[in-house]
Parts: sequence; structure tokens; C-alpha cells
Amino acid sequence: MTAEVNRDQHVDLVHASLGERELAAVAEVFASGWPAGQGPRGKALESELAERYGVPGAVATSNCGAALHLALLALGVREGDEVIVADYTFPAPAHAVRWVGGTPVFADVRADTGTVDPDAVADLVGPRTVGVIAVDTVGLPADYAELNEIAERRGLFLVEDAACAVGATYRGAPAGALAPVACLSFHGRKGATSGEGGALLTADPALAADARVRSSFGIGSIFDQARVVGLPIPEFTEIGYNYKLSDIAAAILGVQLERVGELRERRHAVAARYAELLAEEELLTLPSVPDDRTHAWQSYMVTLDPRLDRAAVAARLRARGVGCGHGTWASHLQPVYGTDQKCPVSADLFARNLAIPMHAELTEAQTERVAFALRDALSHERKGAA
Ligand SMILES: *Cc1c(COP(=O)(O)O)cnc(C)c1O
Repeated sequence: MTAEVNRDQHVDLVHASLGERELAAVAEVFASGWPAGQGPRGKALESELAERYGVPGAVATSNCGAALHLALLALGVREGDEVIVADYTFPAPAHAVRWVGGTPVFADVRADTGTVDPDAVADLVGPRTVGVIAVDTVGLPADYAELNEIAERRGLFLVEDAACAVGATYRGAPAGALAPVACLSFHGRKGATSGEGGALLTADPALAADARVRSSFGIGSIFDQARVVGLPIPEFTEIGYNYKLSDIAAAILGVQLERVGELRERRHAVAARYAELLAEEELLTLPSVPDDRTHAWQSYMVTLDPRLDRAAVAARLRARGVGCGHGTWASHLQPVYGTDQKCPVSADLFARNLAIPMHAELTEAQTERVAFALRDALSHERKGAA
């Protein structure tokens, strides 16, 4: 056997859906002469986001990490404060808490959805707790009815990290509008993308204004300043950051937002086909989506039976040109946080989940090839597991 993989047969784990329409939008920005941030395209994007999510405040940012940082600054998180974070996720929430000098406290997740367990959150609230960051795990919204109730009752802020969840819904409302503050990612691995990009969404206009000024070195829009009459000289009032989204990226996102429905339908079709093709496989647990919400399918993760060797299954898939990965992280196990907290459910998902190809460009034939390759890998590995 050879390790060579036929390129035509390769099925990517992820693949962004960017094409001619996005290129045409970029060409318009080039012609306009304003490629930097907070220009006409950036402002239009912020209006589109505010309207789409039904919130007064939308701030376009260079990425979701920046949006989380701005959110915690605007919410006033300081050194010594504890913020409860969902454990099973790309660990941006815990990083953001550390950026402002706070202490992340890791909350375990539900075994069926991988989203933060509201009971775990309630149990972790202590005298230093100031807020909670919930995560829409690889595109599936968390339990916001319970989470908002806990936050209100205990006087905590609630941030929705909807980085992966553009296009998902919870009880009919869009992910990104499920908590008083939400952060989106437009990274190339998410459902709508400008390569890199993000947004902060909030029901609180003052919080949005605070985040916008801090995203721009602590002064207002340079584009606007070039247009005022006279020569008022703006003053710096904050040690802000440069977290602006370029107008080039904003133009790409204007097109991507129009395509969210179409791209989501294609991901849904892939997930539905996987569910059919893998339903009989007793060594797998397939993703479960509660009736009151829909999934954006940023990733499709299956949970392997504990007797299986995940690395061996992955090696078999890769040898056949099928991309795969471990899924996401158990944050509390990352050495950088130096915590001795335990989140056993998250640790178990981190050890057993396997992400298989999921994106809007997958063909029916590729979807079937992935499912058959996975079943074949399982049948080989099953022997070792028996
Ligand atoms: C991808 C991701 C982020 C980071 O998004 P960037 O735009 O790359 O900064 C944050 N949180 C979660 C849950 C993510 O999956």
C-alpha cells in the first residue's frame, strides 16, 4: 500500500464557499479608493448585521477573538473577576478572560449536545463571578432559556460566543441574538467568511459605542473625520486597539450574508445524508439536535465507541484521502490555564470525537465516499476493539 493520495479523490475536511460574486464585491472596493475599515462598506455591513439580528448595536471586528476582548472590556471585567466559560470549545472564551486579567472558570457540557450545562454554570457561581460566556458548540446553540434565567437571577452578564453558529436558530431566534451580547466569527472555517473577520452584536447601544471606539485606537472613524467641515481635532479617550474589519472583508461579507440560507441548506443536506448512511453503525454516536434549535453544522462530529482507537480510525480515513480531525478542545486540559478543575464530560468528548468533512461544497458522491470510508475503517478497527 502507498501513502500517496489521489488528489481528485481527496475530500477536504473544510472548504470555504467563496466565488465570483465575492470577487466582484472586492473589485468595487478597489475602485472606491477606501479599502481600510469603518468606511462605506464597513458601515453598510454593520447596518445589515443590526437589521438581520434585530439589535441596535453591531460592530464589525477583525475577528471573533477581538469581539470577545471588546465585549469583556466594555462589560468592565477586571483583574480578580471570575468568568464562567463553556469548556468544550476552541478556547477563545478563556483566552479573552485572561486578556483582561480575569480568571476563567470552566463549566462542563451536556454529553448529548456538547453545549455548556446550565446546572454546571449555576453550581460554579461564586462571590467573584461577574459573568458567563456560553458557546454555540460547532454551530449548535446552547440552552439560552436556562442560561439567561441564571444570569438574570444572579446578576451576571451573559455573552453568546456564536463564532460557529451563523445561520443556526434557537426557539425561532437566530444564533447571535440569544444573549444580551454575542460575538460572531467570519474565519475561513466558519459558515460565512471573509477569510478573517468577526462582529460584536448587542442589545445595548452604549456597549456597542464603547466597543466601536476601542476597536479603533480610541478615536472615531477616520473616514468620517475626513468628511467633516472645518478642522475639529478628535481626542484620544481610551487606549484602544486596532480591531477594525477592512472594507475589503466587509464587502465579501455583504455577499456571504446574502448566501447564508443557501449555504446552510447545503450543509444541512450533508448532515442529513451522513445521518442516513451512518445510522446503523453501533460504534458511533451521531450528533443530536434538540427539537427547539437548528444546527449551523460548522463541523460534523461523531463520537467513537470508547473501545476504538481514534488515531487509527483517523489514519485509515486519511490514507483514503478523507480529511478528518479531533473536533474541538476541552479547554480546562490546555496547559496554559494551569487549572486543576475537572470537566469529565468535556474531557470525554475531547478524547472520543472525530470531525469528518463538512462544508457547503461537498457533493453527494463525496458525502457517500466519506461515510463508506468511515464504516470501512470502523469495521477494521472493530476487530481490535472486540
Ligand atoms: C473559531 C472560534 C473563535 C475564534 O474566532 P476568530 O474569528 O478566529 O477569532 C472563537 N470562539 C469559538 C467558539 C470558535 O469556534
